[in-house]
Amino acid sequence: MKITRIETFLVPPRWLFCRVETDEGVVGWGEPVVEGRAEVVRAAIDVLAEYLIGQDPLRIQDHWQVLTKGGFYRGGPVLSSAVAGLDQALWDIAGKAYGAPVHALLGGPVRDRVRVYAWVGGDEPAELTEQITAQVEAGFTAVKMNAAGATSPVPTAAETAAVVGRVAAAREALGPDRDVAVDFHGRFTAAGARRVLAELAPLHPLFVEEPVVPEQGHLLAGLVSASPVPLATGERLYGRAEFLPVLTAGIAVAQPDLSHAGGISEVHRIASLAETYGAQLAPHCPLGPIALAASLQVAFATPNFLIQEQSRGIHYNKDADLLSYVVDPEPFRFVDGHAPRGDAPGLGITVDEDAVRAADRTGHAWRNPVWRHADGSFAEW
Ligand SMILES: [Mg+2]
Repeated sequence: MKITRIETFLVPPRWLFCRVETDEGVVGWGEPVVEGRAEVVRAAIDVLAEYLIGQDPLRIQDHWQVLTKGGFYRGGPVLSSAVAGLDQALWDIAGKAYGAPVHALLGGPVRDRVRVYAWVGGDEPAELTEQITAQVEAGFTAVKMNAAGATSPVPTAAETAAVVGRVAAAREALGPDRDVAVDFHGRFTAAGARRVLAELAPLHPLFVEEPVVPEQGHLLAGLVSASPVPLATGERLYGRAEFLPVLTAGIAVAQPDLSHAGGISEVHRIASLAETYGAQLAPHCPLGPIALAASLQVAFATPNFLIQEQSRGIHYNKDADLLSYVVDPEPFRFVDGHAPRGDAPGLGITVDEDAVRAADRTGHAWRNPVWRHADGSFAEW
């Protein structure tokens, strides 16, 4: 079997899909994207495709080595995300060629269903109780929320009280048997994070995510020792080498993104690395159906898996949502807050190719907002 064609599709709300075709008619899909930089990843795919055309798609690990290291310069979000999407597509082809779901090729399932959480509150969290109640009624056992919108790097007493008040409202709506995870989104300094973490501890969050921006990973060890709340990070880390220091620092939850951190191949390895540190895996995935399908395949085959993010109804999904580009919604039909394990080959989904091609004609130009502090200086979003 040989790879004959690689295409990309820029589809709303903010995604990029790739389609890898072979001379035997087997087709694989991937989702190579950096949110807000989709066109740049598309250009990277075109360059990487020069190597892949004519190659045997089943030599996934060898291609991964060449695509990540063969250009001499390596790493970073753009290249790692381009490789990630292509890697997903190659695993999809392998599963279809062997007639097996990807999780079977990764060693077989270690669980029957995968716990997922729902987003509540948006960028500027508000009206939480109503949204949480709706998610609980839909069967979810866990939600995630932003701690704050634009905020002072070291939050004032009022800002801190507002964060704690929102998480307390969430805890009240969820009761003691469900979970709330809180995303700091790197919006606080380490000092600010330390202050807020202490006050959130009594509310028992499942974890607090990105307590500081990724370039301050060297401060995580101090935060871990200061915080009884489990800390999570990883959506802006792109491979094993970048997870090693944060795992050594003692994070409890590793959050690689299947579309950023080198795909199924690399996230499977990051999961094993995390296991040696007693850390659990909770892949980042505010993305589309292919990224989620890839995430679920890894979750079914990962012993130290905790919970999966998914984007259905997320605040980013205007114009299109998780189910807009799949023929059959069944893999994403969450029951009691869990995704079912299917046995369909490859990634386990059927992409609606007509819908994808039509959406690509519209495209998108999604960018994240640029926030400013009250004095006009740049603020982390
Ligand atoms: Mg996050």
